[in-house]
Amino acid sequence: MQLGELLGRISAQRLQDLALSLVQIPSPTGDSVQVTEHYADYLRRIGLEVELRYDVADRFPKSPSLAARLRGGPGPTLQLDGHLDTIPAEHAAPYCRDGIIHGRGATDMKSGLTAMAEAARVLMESGARLKGNLLLTAHGLHEAPTGRGEGLSALVAHGIHGDMAIVTEGRIRELEVVGLGQSTFEIVIRREGEVVHELQAPPGAPHPILVGHELVGRLLERNAELARVDIPLTGPESIFIGIFEGGDFYNRLPTTCRIMGTRRYAPEKSHRDIQREFEELVDEMARKHHVTISLDLRKTREGYRMAEDNLARCVLQAAARDILGQPLVEVGQRSVGDVSILTREAGIPAGYLGVGHGAHSSNEHVSVDELVLLTRMLLAAICHYPGLAEAGN
Ligand SMILES: [Zn+2]
Repeated sequence: MQLGELLGRISAQRLQDLALSLVQIPSPTGDSVQVTEHYADYLRRIGLEVELRYDVADRFPKSPSLAARLRGGPGPTLQLDGHLDTIPAEHAAPYCRDGIIHGRGATDMKSGLTAMAEAARVLMESGARLKGNLLLTAHGLHEAPTGRGEGLSALVAHGIHGDMAIVTEGRIRELEVVGLGQSTFEIVIRREGEVVHELQAPPGAPHPILVGHELVGRLLERNAELARVDIPLTGPESIFIGIFEGGDFYNRLPTTCRIMGTRRYAPEKSHRDIQREFEELVDEMARKHHVTISLDLRKTREGYRMAEDNLARCVLQAAARDILGQPLVEVGQRSVGDVSILTREAGIPAGYLGVGHGAHSSNEHVSVDELVLLTRMLLAAICHYPGLAEAGN
């Protein structure tokens, strides 16, 4: 059995049908039972050993995770991973026209889940035997702010992961070899007392909006400092303010001011470093202005950096040479995803590979040709790792 023979077995029609059926089942983050069961049924039908896990059910009863296995020889396990949830934003109803599938999740990332299933199906139907194993994992709770990777983290915590992983979202001709970490922050400034007319405010009463304004100024100064240190491929660390609110009437002194935003940081740093940075600033401002300031800083994902000899990097580049005839362009990424969980929590080499356009937009779409190409790349990767056993072995 050789790669060429496997590639010849890919079915564009099956890819189209599965992708459309997945996109037709809405699965906003936190509510992915139906799509998970649909995907599990499909994998079971093609002959995989499927396990549905409700490990995060205590907090998220509607976000099961699944693990599906194709067992081969005693070699290592390649994991293909994807998230089944989509952002909750409105999108036109799913449809397929001229070989292009449109709908919420078409790109992000039911496209990847579809190609993973097709790669497994091709292997099953060909009778090819792997030197090791193939593990497909799929889960919810990916998309922030509702999800922060709890589905995948729970699988990893239960020891369910491969020796190397490909997360099937992202780009097909680029390899993201470095990714920034990201935390989100919510800062609430409160003064004592009630909301009062500006003229009745006690002398010297702190003004939460002005304290907030000064605090934002300090965050922007810090951002300018960060901007002076370039990080190759991703650009510098950053602080972004997305929400600033306070006050309810033009001449009333409010009691609170709320600020929210993101903090993106170098892969060598951790969420804990960022926590310290924010605590220092918030404590200083609270003391200076006699207000209380609450800080809710949450990790979305840590960053990651692939070493030159990272196995996922080598395997994905080898697959690109086989299928595209040229290597992937190595880039960095500022947004966060699940490679960081696999790298930092499971401790395994992992990389992204995906297709589609308009993730999170009002026109997510992916072509059937792209689904075929991703499946080809995944099969080529599988032939490199764990590899196909010789006939008769
Ligand atoms: Zn995604």
